[in-house]
Amino acid sequence: TKANVPIMETRGLVKRFGSFIANDGLNLTIRKGEIHAILGENGAGKSTLMNMLSGLLAPDEGEIYYNGSQVSFTSPRSAMEIGIGMVHQHFMLVPALTVAENVVLGIKQRSPWFRLSAACAEIERLSASFGLDVDPRKRVADLSVGQQQRVEIMKTLYRGADFIIMDEPTAVLTPPEVQDLFRVLRALREQGKTIVFISHKLQEVKAICDRVTVLRLGKHIASMPMEGTSPSELARLMVGRDIQPPAVRQ
Ligand code: ADP
Ligand code: MG
Repeated sequence: TKANVPIMETRGLVKRFGSFIANDGLNLTIRKGEIHAILGENGAGKSTLMNMLSGLLAPDEGEIYYNGSQVSFTSPRSAMEIGIGMVHQHFMLVPALTVAENVVLGIKQRSPWFRLSAACAEIERLSASFGLDVDPRKRVADLSVGQQQRVEIMKTLYRGADFIIMDEPTAVLTPPEVQDLFRVLRALREQGKTIVFISHKLQEVKAICDRVTVLRLGKHIASMPMEGTSPSELARLMVGRDIQPPAVRQ
């Protein structure tokens, strides 16, 4: 991995719902090629942050920088156009359609024939490259939950994502499916993709992530490398009472 090159930075990012502050001035740095955990209890503001980084929600204040340029998204599609993809907790697939039909859904192409024949070849290439084990000709209804999630990952890769945000991706998976997902995440990292892994589960964050950012009650509590950080320290940061200025370790 290319150490220390930032790919995404936020400056003073704020999101309010009425008078409630869901994200309170977040200054975050995510580096190219890392698996970066956003860790926090339910209600910490993780999904709100993800929705701003992926174009679903507009920030009330603050800036987002991507590859050194300030960006402002009007939709998930405009975020995807510059390489930011997201995998939601609840999948957005059409069960009656095939994998390939789902993957190309919403993309303008020259003709239906071109779409599917070219898409199947490209999906097979990406599937092999990242160990996704996704068959483009299968119907989504016939896939396991873990396979369906990998179709969602495929959708982002097919659209050219370099930066993939996953919201609580293990919540719907069995333990063996979690291990399959982790293998895919390592393959993505190996080939230079950046992953934001949102979770409230300490052990999973410890198992797969390079860096971790802790949020609590909408505030940035800490960012640090996973190596040398104990689960008990993270637990204390997640649920502590005192709010201090963010603790950032390079
Ligand atoms: P997390 O993903 O960490 O569990 P969220 O970002 O979903 O947290 O939510 C953070 C806080 O913001 C919660 O208290 C939640 O109730 C509130 N919140 C999130 N979305 C909305 C919304 N659309 N309207 C009002 N409150 C919201
Ligand atoms: Mg959430």
